[in-house]
Amino acid sequence: MKEQTLALIKPDAISKRFQGLIIHDILDAGFEIKAMKMLHLSQDQAKAFYEVHKGKDFYEPLVAFMTSGSIIALHLEKENAIMDYRTLMGKTDPEVAASGTLRHKYAETTRRNAVHGSDSPENAKKEIAFFF
Ligand code: UDP
Ligand code: MG
Repeated sequence: MKEQTLALIKPDAISKRFQGLIIHDILDAGFEIKAMKMLHLSQDQAKAFYEVHKGKDFYEPLVAFMTSGSIIALHLEKENAIMDYRTLMGKTDPEVAASGTLRHKYAETTRRNAVHGSDSPENAKKEIAFFF
């Protein structure tokens, strides 16, 4: 069955002009782009989006990073979209992310790691509704 997920291209990747390459890789991997938009998150929006990480040591710097420039949100569809996009994205730390993954190819650090992807059906639904 087709599944939906939410992907973000983060400010580090956009400032390095990687958005075209990342969208190309997403399409190449068989995802359909159902909706896409570029926007600049407010502090309140970034805090709400990453609410699950509130209280962790990286929460405030993460919010600062995610509001430091524009992002691109993509509503993606594919069989097994959630896990397959997580695989395409690679591990959080680009040093550990497998060769060929988006984070291995385009990310800088564990924080400035180029892309986001939903981690469960519940979160995918919430995150798609957050942007679209
Ligand atoms: N992050 C960070 N420091 C950490 C762990 C995570 O700055 O030690 C940031 C990073 O941008 C990551 C986001 O917080 O993508 C959300 O963390 P999560 O553990 O959910 O990783 P993801 O699901 O994005 O791989
Ligand atoms: Mg996560």
